[in-house]
Amino acid sequence: MEEIEADVVVIGSGPAGQKAAIQAAKLGKKVVVIEQELDPGGNCLYNGTIPSKSLREAIIDLTGYYERNFHGIQYDRKKINISELINNRLGQTINAQRNMIWRQFKKNGIQVVLGSARFENPHRIVVENVSEGITYQIHGEAFVIATGSKPRNPTNIPFDDDVILDSTRLLRITKVPKTMIVLGGGIIGAEYASFFSALGTEVTVVDKKERLLPLLDAEIGVLMQTALTDLGLNFLGNKEPEEVLRKNDRAFVRFKDGTSAEADVLLFALGRQANVEGLHIENAGVKMNNRGYVVVNALFQTSVPHIYAAGDVIGGPSLASTSMEQGRLASRHAIGIQTHHFPNIYPIGIYTIPEISSIGMTEEELKELGYRYEVGRAYYYELARSHIAGSNTGMFKILFHKETLEILGIHIIGRGATEVIHIGQVAKSFNAKIDYFIDQVFNYPTYAEGYRVAALNGINKIKSRR
Ligand SMILES: Cc1cc2nc3c(=O)[nH]c(=O)nc-3n(C[C@H](O)[C@H](O)[C@H](O)COP(=O)(O)OP(=O)(O)OC[C@H]3O[C@@H](n4cnc5c(N)ncnc54)[C@H](O)[C@@H]3O)c2cc1C
Repeated sequence: MEEIEADVVVIGSGPAGQKAAIQAAKLGKKVVVIEQELDPGGNCLYNGTIPSKSLREAIIDLTGYYERNFHGIQYDRKKINISELINNRLGQTINAQRNMIWRQFKKNGIQVVLGSARFENPHRIVVENVSEGITYQIHGEAFVIATGSKPRNPTNIPFDDDVILDSTRLLRITKVPKTMIVLGGGIIGAEYASFFSALGTEVTVVDKKERLLPLLDAEIGVLMQTALTDLGLNFLGNKEPEEVLRKNDRAFVRFKDGTSAEADVLLFALGRQANVEGLHIENAGVKMNNRGYVVVNALFQTSVPHIYAAGDVIGGPSLASTSMEQGRLASRHAIGIQTHHFPNIYPIGIYTIPEISSIGMTEEELKELGYRYEVGRAYYYELARSHIAGSNTGMFKILFHKETLEILGIHIIGRGATEVIHIGQVAKSFNAKIDYFIDQVFNYPTYAEGYRVAALNGINKIKSRR
């Protein structure tokens, strides 16, 4: 038994845990991070954000995806070896990130304890490192629970390692499937469906909703669905699975409407759940909501004031980007230094092919709230950069107030959307009006120029009335 005393104890080393730990260490606190896996990084690094985005990039590069706009649809369909995709590209990216995280922990004097944590009482955690046969007793002044999430896998789905998969198992496949069914048209389902479509797999996405990614501004959603259909993806809306089976080494689904489908692989992407199993948070008195997430206030404090929680374990928006900031803010408050609330405005990035990113309100929300708004649009085919890069599918959509010109929402679909959204985010955060984009010079040729084109389009619509 080894005893450790710390100012801040962080459970989990994903984005939320990393930033919580580094923030506390930077402020001179003794920090311990507990991680049950062999290395820090979290699901973000091994099962989620990083592998999926590496896979996406590898597919785009290796298939010459954008080259098809110059050389025709056949250009890209060359045989891609799965080990080129997963072992090489993905493996190297993960290694680089893993080393970087270890380096950061070391540089900041953060102690990493490997093993599975459980609360014994509100100030004490026990960590079992089974492989090394060591038990740690860790006493902390403050705690940050950052244990993340895992796929919500119903027990009646016969998951295995090669045919019936969740988003973690999908990363272990050994060959590119010819056909694939994706159950769930949310972000994870839509992203993987678009990656495999780009790779040449015949993909069918099934969802009980009428359209893919219903959270999107509807116009952007329609553009996305059209782009995915052009990639060969088949979407079946208003459909729910009744039964999922493995039959003759293929996935078989029977739907509630009596129809059925089969494919080489099935990706089950119908939600995630908080990782609290085995943590015994009840021993610390920490409360959960009825969906199984840890309840926190606006400062990321749980029902026990010196215990904080951040990241996927507290529920939406469940992004690596937001988890990092939640972890950092939780740590700052735990230490008792000045902090601020989580920002109201943050971008959502969806890495489908083409990618989507947005901040602020959708057109549907503005209508519902009775805003007097106007829309400025710029299509990617209007931008020289898109032609140069072979990526002329996409649109900038800027929603702004008709009288005050205040920017109300920005929605971008197309190459580089997740990068260029930050220009709009900064403008909006500083309360810039839409004409700000008109009065600036943009590098040319760039995707960012889309802001200017969209602003001009919007302003021209109201000019006569101003
Ligand atoms: C396929 C996929 C794609 C995604 N793509 C994106 C994206 O493009 N952009 C984006 O912003 N987000 C994306 N996300 C979401 C993102 O990965 C998560 O929001 C993020 O990982 C959450 O970070 P976290 O720190 O809360 O937890 P996690 O990254 O889940 O890490 C939690 C860590 O806690 C450890 N842990 C759990 N219980 C214990 C215990 N009892 N003791 C010790 N350690 C424990 C786990 O082993 C894990 O290492 C994606 C997710 C998935 C699944």
